[in-house]
Amino acid sequence: MSDHIFKDAIERVKRIGSQADVSLDVINSLMHPHATLTASLPVRMDDGSTQYFTGYRCRYNNLLGPSKGGIRYHPDVNRQEVEALALWMTIKCAIVGLPYGGGKGGITVDAKKLSAMEIERLSRAYVRAMADFIGPDTDIPAPDVYTNARIMGWMMDEYETIKRVKAPGVITGKPISLGGSLGRDDATGRGAYLCIKQLESKNKWQPHNITVAVQGFGNGGYHVARLLHDDGYKIVAISDSQGGIYSDNGFDVDSIYKGKQETNRITALYCKHSVCELVDHDVITNEQLLELDVDILIPAALDGVITTKNVKNIKAKNIVEVANGPIIGEVDHIIAQKGITVIPDVLANAGGVTVSYFEWVQNKNGYYWSLPEVHNKLATIMNQAFSEIWDISINEKVSMRDAAYILAMRRFDKAVSAHGTQQYFSN
Ligand code: GLU
Repeated sequence: MSDHIFKDAIERVKRIGSQADVSLDVINSLMHPHATLTASLPVRMDDGSTQYFTGYRCRYNNLLGPSKGGIRYHPDVNRQEVEALALWMTIKCAIVGLPYGGGKGGITVDAKKLSAMEIERLSRAYVRAMADFIGPDTDIPAPDVYTNARIMGWMMDEYETIKRVKAPGVITGKPISLGGSLGRDDATGRGAYLCIKQLESKNKWQPHNITVAVQGFGNGGYHVARLLHDDGYKIVAISDSQGGIYSDNGFDVDSIYKGKQETNRITALYCKHSVCELVDHDVITNEQLLELDVDILIPAALDGVITTKNVKNIKAKNIVEVANGPIIGEVDHIIAQKGITVIPDVLANAGGVTVSYFEWVQNKNGYYWSLPEVHNKLATIMNQAFSEIWDISINEKVSMRDAAYILAMRRFDKAVSAHGTQQYFSN
C-alpha cells in the first residue's frame, strides 16, 4: 500500500480540486512537497552495538504558516508515506483555520523491539539530524503513531541543548511539566467525538441505539471510545494490532483499557472497583471488525485499511476516520455509491493538531490555560469546521471529504491570490 499512498493522495487532490473552483496554482502547489530530509540515525544499542535507522521529515507546504505535524515510529514508515501524511496535515490545518502549513516525520523502526533507553537515544538522534530543519517558526513536530509525550520531551530537550536556548514551541504534545497543554492527551479523540455529536444532532440519534466499532485502541481510538461510551453509545467491537473482541451488548471501555495497560492485550473485561470479570464476547480479526454491520465504524489504527479488496463488504452506515488515510482515494466513489457518510480524517482527527496549536500559543506567550478553556476553544473550532464542511456538502452535493478538501483549497486560493496568480500577472 505505502508505495502508492502518495500517488493516491495526489489523485484525490486533483479529482476534488477540479470541482473546487480554485486557481490551478493551488492544485499545483499541493502536488509538490516543498522539502523532505532523509537522514541516517546511528544509535548505540543496549548491547553495545551501533544500529542505523532511517528518519524522515517533510515540510510539505508553508503557505499559511510554519509546517506542522507529528512524527511516527513504525516499521512501514517510508518517504512516500511521510509525504502523503504531510499533505494531509496541510489540508487539515487549513480546514480548522490554524496559521500552519503541513509537515510530517517518521522513523522506520519497530519501537516495540527497543528498550526505553534505546528509544530515548533514537529520538535524540532524530533531533540531532533534523535540528536545522525544524524550529518553532519553521516546522513544529508532535506525537503520532507509537510516539508520545515523553518522546516529545526528550526531543525538545535535545533541540534546546543543540541551540542553547529554551524553545518549548519547537514541539507540541509535551508532558505538562515541560510546557505541554492541558487537554492535549485526549484532543484527537475529543475532536472526533465532537464531530459525532454533530452527526447525532443532525440525525437525531439516541446514543443507546447507536452501535460503534473501533479499530485501534491507541490514543485516538481509546479516547473517542471512552467519550462515546460515557454518553451511552454502545461500543460493540474494539481491536488492537493483535486482534479484536465483539459483543452485541457493548463493552465497558475503561475496563478494557485497564486490562490493556496491565497485560498489553485487548480482553473483554468488566471491572467494578478492583475486581474484573470476563464478559461474553466473540474473538474477531481486524478484517472482520471493519466489515461489521454497525452504525459507526471508527478506523483509528493505520492508513490503507479500506481498499478495493474489502470495500464491497463494508456495512457501516457512518465512518469516522480517526486514523490518517484509512480509506484509499481509489474507493471514494464506491463509498459514496453505498451511501456511507464519511467524516474524513482531515476533520475527524483535527482535534490533536488544534490543541497542539493551543500548546504552541501558550509556549510563545508563557501563559497557560485551564482545561475548561482548552475544551471550549477546541469545541468552538471543531464545531465551526464541521458546520462549514456540512454546508458545502449539502449546498454543492458532495461528500464530506470532498467538502473538507474544497474548504481547505478555497482558503489556499485566497492566500495564493494575495501573492498574485497567472491571471493577475498576465492582465
Ligand atoms: N499526529 C497528529 C495528526 O496527525 C497531530 C499533529 C500535531 O499535533 O501537530 O494530526
